[in-house]
Amino acid sequence: MAEARAADRRVLRLKPGREKSLRHRHPWIFSGAVDRVEGDPVSGDTVRVVAADGTVLAQAAYSADSQIRARVWSFDAGATIDAAFIRQRIERAAASREPLRDPRHTGCRLLHGESDGLPGVIADRYGDVVVVQLSSAGAERWRDAIVEALAAAPGVACVFERSDAEVRALEGLGPRTGVLHGQLPASVVFLEDGLSYRVDVVAGQKTGFYLDQRDNRRAIRALASGRDVLNVFCYTGGFTLSALAGGAARVTSLDSSQGALALAGENLALNPALAGGRAEWLEADAFAALRRMRDAARSFDLVVLDPPKFAPTAAHAERAARAYKDVNLWALKLLRPGGLLATFSCSGGIDAALFQKIVAGAALDAHADAAIVGRFGPSADHPIALAFPEGDYLKGLLIRKGA
Ligand code: SAH
Repeated sequence: MAEARAADRRVLRLKPGREKSLRHRHPWIFSGAVDRVEGDPVSGDTVRVVAADGTVLAQAAYSADSQIRARVWSFDAGATIDAAFIRQRIERAAASREPLRDPRHTGCRLLHGESDGLPGVIADRYGDVVVVQLSSAGAERWRDAIVEALAAAPGVACVFERSDAEVRALEGLGPRTGVLHGQLPASVVFLEDGLSYRVDVVAGQKTGFYLDQRDNRRAIRALASGRDVLNVFCYTGGFTLSALAGGAARVTSLDSSQGALALAGENLALNPALAGGRAEWLEADAFAALRRMRDAARSFDLVVLDPPKFAPTAAHAERAARAYKDVNLWALKLLRPGGLLATFSCSGGIDAALFQKIVAGAALDAHADAAIVGRFGPSADHPIALAFPEGDYLKGLLIRKGA
């Protein structure tokens, strides 16, 4: 009871006029909007968010060290944030993905943070292994409840934590990884579009695989037949295997990470139907390698460019824009007349309109007559809450180079 009363006293009062974003159901409260904090909450505690006029707007997770001072769990003023609330959110996310079930895929993003009403909580499923990534003080507070709910889903044999994203430091949290439930199999393998992939859940990027590109890999598969393909920033070979499965004549794949390329090679071997010596792997820096390929007069019918996040936030946008322009310019130069470029950006700091401008600038400088013939976004298990535009990070263009 004493604990319940203390919780009632934890209040975050907004400055006058700073409640608008909450009324629009945006889940972040920035430090600049906070008038005062009452009841001495510590990071992870639930606070009642109150407008200057006294209206209770939300229940949110407090984060003492972060510029994002609180993240909303619920806009229902009377909601109780407890293990049952967390479990309900996780069950709601699972139910929303039911219609997406498809026997060709055993990988799925189960929890997509703010867009699933669970700020700072990411969970990806690879077969019977779930990898969870907690990156906010509130997520950290409810870690046990999150893991328990994930472990209770049918067929889950292991929950592995990969809470080692750099953003945790902004919330005053250190990195943590390890098994939280069950046992991690020696090898984690899952199916995407009928192709097998091994995932390095312990040390791979993000949770080990880029599930957000699933639909786009299928699009490349459908475009690849008979083409000479270049896959830049190939990571563990997702677009490479997709292009080979689609009947590409040859696929050249490039990445600067030796570990990623080793796993990409393993992934190719896991799919004997794709054998046949059509794959070439290059360990290189993309910026230098594309220029060298041009010097060697190489050319391709289909180029995939899926670089890392050059601009995590808008503050990095300018430098990132130069990097995007550079790789797109060289990719367009390597493209044969009539060829296709599938170009992506996963930078939150670069929106779709700016990305299109950058690619247009690259085409101009490459003296390429080019047109957009398709657009790409994340697969449906990565929802983007309309109230949370920050969730709209992955965009892509399919560009046709004029003959
Ligand atoms: N397309 C991949 C995901 C790409 S992630 C998929 O579908 O799974 C971005 C990749 O870019 C990472 O594998 C990283 O190792 C690689 N990378 C980062 N900087 C690079 C550089 N300068 N040159 C080449 N590769 C780079």
